[in-house]
This record gives sequence, structure tokens and C-alpha cells, in this order.
Amino acid sequence: MTPAKFQHCLLTWFDQYGRKNLPWQQDISPYRVWLSETMLQQTQVTTVIPYFLAFTTKFPTLEHLAIADIDEVLKHWAGLGYYARARNLHKAAQRIVELGYFPDTLEGLMALPGIGQSTAGAVLSIAFHNSHPILDGNVKRVLARFYAISGWPGDSQVNKALWAASAELTPIYRVADYTQAIMDLGATLCTRSKPLCQSCPVADACQANKNGTVSVYPTPKPPKTLPSKQSVWLVLYDANQQIWLEKRPPTGIWGGLWSFPEFATLAEAEDWCISRNLHIKRQYTLASKRHTFSHYHLDYTPLIVHVENLTNNVMEANQSLWYNNAQISGLGLAAPVKTLLQQLNIKNHQGFLS
Ligand code: SF4
Repeated sequence: MTPAKFQHCLLTWFDQYGRKNLPWQQDISPYRVWLSETMLQQTQVTTVIPYFLAFTTKFPTLEHLAIADIDEVLKHWAGLGYYARARNLHKAAQRIVELGYFPDTLEGLMALPGIGQSTAGAVLSIAFHNSHPILDGNVKRVLARFYAISGWPGDSQVNKALWAASAELTPIYRVADYTQAIMDLGATLCTRSKPLCQSCPVADACQANKNGTVSVYPTPKPPKTLPSKQSVWLVLYDANQQIWLEKRPPTGIWGGLWSFPEFATLAEAEDWCISRNLHIKRQYTLASKRHTFSHYHLDYTPLIVHVENLTNNVMEANQSLWYNNAQISGLGLAAPVKTLLQQLNIKNHQGFLS
């Protein structure tokens, strides 16, 4: 499908089905388009409508916004979230008033606080009828599916490919309607889940639709690769098969729970035992295990050490105890500590701690 055919199909559909009664589609001005595009970032149309109406009643023009107190602006933004958007709107309004005109170039708009390429493209095409592509979330989804562009759109190469696709399809004529139309297509038919391809004006040429792969585009954000931290858990046990536990500091990971003494390396754990003159009968390590927190993986290696000495030879800390099975229900234990203790207990019955 040529760009001209795509534009024709989309505009014909828009003329019949497109949304034309949204508040920001009335009395179109650069200020109203810019405000609506800013409010619509990460926010649904139905949520934005009452905010847009209240905001433009209070600040009907750019000049009203520029001279307003920031607290008053934030008050009218309250509930929309991402308050940096409101602060940037206010700052940018003051800059535009200083400039004496509303910038009508990509560079001029993008020099203002909070205006990215897509918002600038929308203002230029809808308010100034200058042909500029846009690439908001809806358009990214339509184009990723239409051209079967794989890869997460946040990736710079994928983003570049999507911008190139958007630029290729954007017409010179009726650019304001086209911009509105492609956003409408994404919002009403080419929706995130259950897109209505049977009603889509460009379905015949849509790669994802033809290949039956609509659900795989756009590629979701890849999961974060978490850093990993190594640690050694010192599992000291005595002749009575009791295990040494310490209470963790009140703040931080597993704050206030009981766990094994923890060290960065095996050498540090061994030094700790040596410095306390422990009589070690036997020691060995178990296979490392992984516990995943939201921001890192903890790879811990249990170092099992059988000591002969009594408690008072072990350490000075008072937040510590010899643990035995009877105490398990009364102690706050971190989940992997509890699991390891249970495993040791099972092994104990097999003569493990002897
Ligand atoms: S055919 Fe379906 S997937 Fe393709 S652009 Fe239309 S609605 Fe989106």
C-alpha cells in the first residue's frame, strides 16, 4: 500500500467515523492543542475531558496561564498526575509570552520545557497545518503492527524505524485531519487488546493482520536485567545441633528478622570464625541459591560449620541466639532463611548435622 493509499483509506474512514467533538477539537489554537496533547500523555481521553474543560475555563488563553500562580495551576492539575507536566506548561507559557509569538517550527517548540518531538508534531500539524509526523503511544502501536516492526519501541533503533514510518505516511494536505485520524485509529480500533481489525480501513495491507501476529506487536518492554550480589551465610551449629542466628538491623533488607551471619566472601566468614577462636570440627559449603528482590538478585552460599565451643565463645552480640526446632514458630525469619533451616532439619534426620 502506498503512503497516498494509506492516507486516502484513513481519511475516508475518519470522515465517517473519526471523533470530531472532543473539546480540544473546538476553537482550535496552538495553546489548546498543546494543552490537550500534554494532558493526554499517559492519560485516557475520558479522564482528560473534564480536566481540559476546567483548565481552559480557568486559564482560557496562554497569557492567563503565564501570569497565573503556579499553585493555582497545580490545583487545576491535581488528580492528573505527573505534575512536572503542569510545571513545564506554566514555564513554557511564560517563555512564549516573553517571545511574543507561539513558535511554529519543530526546533522552536522543542526548545520549550516539556515539549517533545511528538507533541511538537501534533501542534504543528493540527494547529498550524504544517506537515510533521507524530509518534505517540497510539501511533506507535498502529505502525508497529502495520509494518510488523518488532522490538521494544523504547529501543532507539526501533524508535527510529517507527519515526521513519510515521514520516513516510504523513501527508502534506489535510495533515491536521490525518494526525487526528491516526490517533483515533489507535485509540478506537487498533487498541492494545482485542483490536477491531475487521473494521480497520487499512486491514488489507496490515502486515500483522495478514500474518495473524497482531498480538505480538508492539514488542513489550524487556524485563529489567537485575544486578546480582554474592553473599555467604555462615551456618554455625553446635554439638546439640543448634544453629546460630542473629537479628538483623531494624532497617534494610529483612529488617528486624532473624538470619545467619552474612559475609561478602568465604574468606571473611572464615576470618570471623578464626578471630573468635572457634574450634571447628568440620566445614563445607552447600550449593549457592538465588533469592530475587525487586532491585537485585541475592546469590547466597551456605557455609556449614560445626563448632565445639559453647555459646559464650562465639560472639559478643546480644541480638543473637542458638536456634533449635522448637523455636521456629516464634521467630521472624526471612523466607529463604526459614527454607534453609527446614532443609537442614530434614538433612539432620539423615545424620547431616553430626
Ligand atoms: S488491521 Fe488491525 S492491527 Fe492492523 S492497523 Fe488495523 S486495527 Fe491495527
